[in-house]
Amino acid sequence: MKQLKHLSLSLISFGILSSCQSSEVEDVLDGSLGFDISHIDSSYAPCDDFFMFASAGWIKDNPIPASEARWGSFPILIEENNEKIRGLLDGLLEENTLDGLYQQQLRDFYASAMDSNAVEQAGLSHLQDAIDAIGSWSTKQEMANYLMEAPKAQLAKPFGMYVGADSKDSEAYALYFSQSGLGLPDRDYYFKDDETSEAIRESYKDHLAAIFILLEVENPDDLADEVIDLETRMAEFHMTRRDSRKPELTYNKMPFSELNDLLPFVNWKGMMDNISVSVDSVIVRQPDFMTGLNTLFNEVSIDTWKTYFTWQVINQYADYLSSDFVEANFDFYGKVLQGVDEMKPRWKRSIEKINAGFSEPLGRLFAEHYFSHESRVKVEKMVEDIRSVYRERIEGNEWMSDETKDKALEKLNAFRYKIGYPDNWKDFSSVRIEPDDLLGNRLRLSTFVFEDKMNRLGKPVDKTEWFMGAHIVNAYYSPSFNEIVFPAGILQPPFFNPDADDAVNYGAIGGVIGHEFTHGFDDQGRKYNAFGNLSNWWSEEDSLNFAERTQKVIDFYSGFEPVEGYYVDGELTLGENIADIGGLTLAYHAYQKHIQSTGGRTIKGFTPSQRVFMGWANVWRSHATEEYLRKQVLTDPHSPAQYRVNATMGMLPEFKEAWGCEPDDPLIISEEERAQIW
Ligand SMILES: [Zn+2]
Repeated sequence: MKQLKHLSLSLISFGILSSCQSSEVEDVLDGSLGFDISHIDSSYAPCDDFFMFASAGWIKDNPIPASEARWGSFPILIEENNEKIRGLLDGLLEENTLDGLYQQQLRDFYASAMDSNAVEQAGLSHLQDAIDAIGSWSTKQEMANYLMEAPKAQLAKPFGMYVGADSKDSEAYALYFSQSGLGLPDRDYYFKDDETSEAIRESYKDHLAAIFILLEVENPDDLADEVIDLETRMAEFHMTRRDSRKPELTYNKMPFSELNDLLPFVNWKGMMDNISVSVDSVIVRQPDFMTGLNTLFNEVSIDTWKTYFTWQVINQYADYLSSDFVEANFDFYGKVLQGVDEMKPRWKRSIEKINAGFSEPLGRLFAEHYFSHESRVKVEKMVEDIRSVYRERIEGNEWMSDETKDKALEKLNAFRYKIGYPDNWKDFSSVRIEPDDLLGNRLRLSTFVFEDKMNRLGKPVDKTEWFMGAHIVNAYYSPSFNEIVFPAGILQPPFFNPDADDAVNYGAIGGVIGHEFTHGFDDQGRKYNAFGNLSNWWSEEDSLNFAERTQKVIDFYSGFEPVEGYYVDGELTLGENIADIGGLTLAYHAYQKHIQSTGGRTIKGFTPSQRVFMGWANVWRSHATEEYLRKQVLTDPHSPAQYRVNATMGMLPEFKEAWGCEPDDPLIISEEERAQIW
């Protein structure tokens, strides 16, 4: 495995850039260039460490703020959007007449989150009944009754329950059950035996004890130990994140009655009656977890379960409680797990709370002010450009049979896309939002959203739905909808700048569009057909060819070690890495086609092709705390930013050519190591 490293200043500077200059050099303003040349650190050679070449200048001058775990293009755009949203929300607070009920609800939700006095006064009042009830249990039957009622009451339970499109019947909704119940971010946190993991578990114990002290219960340290022991046993039954990504392992459709065979401790029929739901079948993502949980319900003492549920009920809403709970929560989940020193200011935390249950109306407010029709038209053109390049590349693919290619093309042609914001806005008008009742608002919203989802069972899937607010800086591919979605929030610089150089836009938002398209054909997405159904449309040989190539991606990324002792999980990140490699390849070639008509010229010493790669590096410019990186490699299917740049570049022969790299340059990998997929 070739390690990514950089050479010293003396070996390379702008030599590589100037050698690529053509006679058509033209100076333009940096703004039009789409990236800031001062961010470049030419002590790093592009072929040695492109990430640092493009961004080290910026990283040096922009330390991570005390209230952040990572800092760079993504978090800064989130910050800018938050500032815009704050302005809009403050405007709503000042206006007497508002444009629609949703604005009034947003104003009142925001006011309730900002009203620190009301939050302090409310204290635990919304949860007190539940905590008292749990504390009074003397039999397992009472605990079973709690579990039966927990979904309707929006109270903590150690399994997830949600409605989504049936993975094998994308027109119908299904009721899913999944593993849950842990206070640490992943099962591995309970078992890893390195020093850092042990220290995290010690801090977790302190945190649990701190919560029990706030609740004024006796023997807080012993109770903390009990909870950790129970959660550790629960974690043993958890499927790994690697396996949970595999749809063939998590699609376990069964008659409703079989839930009783897996987990008879819970009165499922009673639960369904309680929420007025009737289903013939359910999909259980991790059946072994459900049977394991049943064992624990029976074996573990009622006193331990009482302690566990008390903790879980608090933990679920800790951020909505008085400041002592909020601070304790931050001390562990912010400081210890992510290396953040300071809490964000209240207004930002208030926006995050709106995001958690009321994201769509907030996106509506944002999109009405900050998204233009012109942007949508430009992005639509890029989407179609990239689709047409993908089409050509599938047709010209050398490792796939014609039969499988036909199916792949059918799927590609069926891709739908959504840009900016939804056509229809969800109606939240029946939810009561009070300006001085933060947790009450949250509970009423959660109940509304839960009931809305449950009510869809038996009805056709609403394909107009968005799963992200329009202000969010992100994008997604939905395999069941077979669609890619780009909210207005991400369609801004440095991802998309309608006034900037096309090359940079293709490298940035074009790369993102290509990334989402490629998700439809990554190790997960390829298992869904043109109709969004889990169904094998691949010949056996083509599947083997695909697996042989993806193994190279797994091997390559598994060698990266962003923090000592913590390696990138090549299997967990496989889908995202395939999407990065494919996405940038598609964007690059879409741009080459684009300039056949517009022409391309060298700007400030950068050729058109080089600027595409600068666009991609721009988007991933960032650095993060060690704590964040550790958590990222254990839980996040995305590779850390530096590899999203350097490893992707290494995989692309187009990069080698554009920057004049030599075969033995650190970023350049051999033909045998290279995974040519899309
Ligand atoms: Zn992705």
